[in-house]
Amino acid sequence: MAPIRIAIVGLGKIARDQHLPALGRSADYDLVAIASRNAAADEIPSFATLDELLGSGIALDAVSLCTPPQGRHAIARAAIAAGLHVMLEKPPGASVSEVLDLADAAAAKGVSLFASWHTRAAPAIEPARSLLAGRTIESVSIVWREDVRRWHPGQDWIWEPAGMGVFDPGINALSAATRILPRALFLEAAELSFPENRAAPIAAQLRLSDAARTPISADFDWRETGPQSWDIHVATKEGPVLLSKGGAALAVDGETVIDGGEIEVEYPNLYAHFADLVRGGRSDVDLAPLRLVADAFMLGRRRSVESFSE
Ligand code: NAP
Repeated sequence: MAPIRIAIVGLGKIARDQHLPALGRSADYDLVAIASRNAAADEIPSFATLDELLGSGIALDAVSLCTPPQGRHAIARAAIAAGLHVMLEKPPGASVSEVLDLADAAAAKGVSLFASWHTRAAPAIEPARSLLAGRTIESVSIVWREDVRRWHPGQDWIWEPAGMGVFDPGINALSAATRILPRALFLEAAELSFPENRAAPIAAQLRLSDAARTPISADFDWRETGPQSWDIHVATKEGPVLLSKGGAALAVDGETVIDGGEIEVEYPNLYAHFADLVRGGRSDVDLAPLRLVADAFMLGRRRSVESFSE
């Protein structure tokens, strides 16, 4: 099968850390170009913008957008209009409605749109989902606490509207929870802590539930300088289930059954799925995680906390 000719748009941290290596190892793709205002990759034709790339005459089937959520919609719209398949980094856009617009546009044009959630491609996610489908869930506690200075240095966009602040990692937790839990989640209440000098929250406490009235809490905090946590604790009638390391590890009834994380599988899995979508003429756009974040901004009580500087 001919490789999918793909370009990366937005050559920043995640594109260099994950997308380039995953594409380099995949037989499904031929990385033919980069579009990034201030960056270029060795030996790959590089352009400042997608428009310049489209005008270059380089033959292309798909683009993978690795820019921040602000401004993604316009780039994705231009790609779809040019007849390209589009893969979106998480979060898929700056708002729910703009991603719905992209889904409609992709369907009308007959191209594939993939709103990717890399945490869902981690090795313990599907085993956790299968296991929990057969258990009686009593409560869920999501604990996603990390040090913003360590993981997001110099990323000003993340503190701007639509940068989502602590929900940038928090949405990964919500993407995992909405995949492994058997019922749809909804938000009941939230408290969002905004640094006095920032437009996005540094911490958020969420209270969620589902149709079975399961108590579900989420603790997202970017001020954690001690051990970092990317954990979902599920209390079940049959015993505790712990998804940890951001979906790479699973412990069931106190015993570790999966301890992944050393070998990077998330992005190779995402690109394999995107290739299936393109070849099958399908799209995959699940907005449940983004909807919950939008609901948190809509329902959340806001409080002001001390200013944040790097
Ligand atoms: P980043 O390091 O800031 O890179 C994003 C790149 O996009 C920039 O280098 C920039 O390259 C380009 N860009 C285009 N418009 C921009 C704008 N208005 N503001 C800033 N940059 C702009 O960010 P990142 O960490 O790679 O994150 C990008 C996306 O991937 C986000 O949605 C994030 O949630 C997601 N993600 C990140 C990680 C991670 O560990 N960092 C993990 C998973 C997913 P040019 O200046 O050359 O155009």
